[in-house]
Amino acid sequence: MPSGSGKLTGRVAIVTGASRGIGSAIARKFAQEGAKVVINYNASSKQAQEIQRDIAEKGGESIVFKGDVSNSREVKAMVEATMARFGRVDILVNNAGIIFRKKILESTEEEWDRTMDVNLKSVYLCSKAVAPIMIQQKRGKIVNISSISGLNGPPSALEIPDYTASKAGIIGLSRALSLNLAPLINVNVVCPGATETDMLGTMSEERRRVRIAETPLGRFGRPDEIAAAVLFLASDDSDFVTGETLVVSGGRPQT
Ligand code: NAP
Repeated sequence: MPSGSGKLTGRVAIVTGASRGIGSAIARKFAQEGAKVVINYNASSKQAQEIQRDIAEKGGESIVFKGDVSNSREVKAMVEATMARFGRVDILVNNAGIIFRKKILESTEEEWDRTMDVNLKSVYLCSKAVAPIMIQQKRGKIVNISSISGLNGPPSALEIPDYTASKAGIIGLSRALSLNLAPLINVNVVCPGATETDMLGTMSEERRRVRIAETPLGRFGRPDEIAAAVLFLASDDSDFVTGETLVVSGGRPQT
């Protein structure tokens, strides 16, 4: 029996990029709250299966689905597999993301395209694939994971052009979707600040030091702290919230 307070009992949730980091924390938290979870991943098969095992041991239910969220065929197959197994889709969390951490002069056109495809186009593709189902169900929640890099974050969070553009794009796209899909589907955004995951492994020690010094709460976030904010936007607690952006970053630098 899941150990949470049942906020998502009976709900079916697709979490993209749930094999590692923030996505895996969201999948775990949703299962704990009673949701049946689709653990999407692209490369990390072993980790995705570990999350599934973990969820099962705690009495939850999930399936693992390998699919590149930037590929419309694979996204369609993921939604079809969800319907075949669970018969509905109540929640979509567009979490999958990548970063190359290169400034414009070092970055390549291929990296720009891949970043845009995985981080931004995927939100369009996955949302478009689940929206007709949610509309038919007369209810649905879409939560998109952007970043303080897509907002007016500190300069150290804004230096990577393709990543920053993709994350700002998610916020604009989400606003448009919140209008397109109202009143039946709520579409909101969570903007994490630096959070302890593999993604930070590609950040230099010097940059880590600067980012922590800039953060009023003096530390990086934990994946479960981001998952808690996503849970709010995926649950009934946020039924009157749409088109909004929730920042979970340890505070804004005071200038
Ligand atoms: P992470 O630890 O690197 O995990 C990324 C996840 O995305 C993995 O599960 C990965 O799965 C999946 N993924 C990557 N490309 C994919 C694709 N084409 N199709 C499907 N899944 C794919 O990163 P994270 O830190 O948890 O980041 C999660 C989200 O939070 C991202 O959108 C990121 O931009 C955002 N974010 C992170 C931070 C931070 O400091 N960590 C801050 C702000 C925002 P595979 O390994 O299976 O490919």
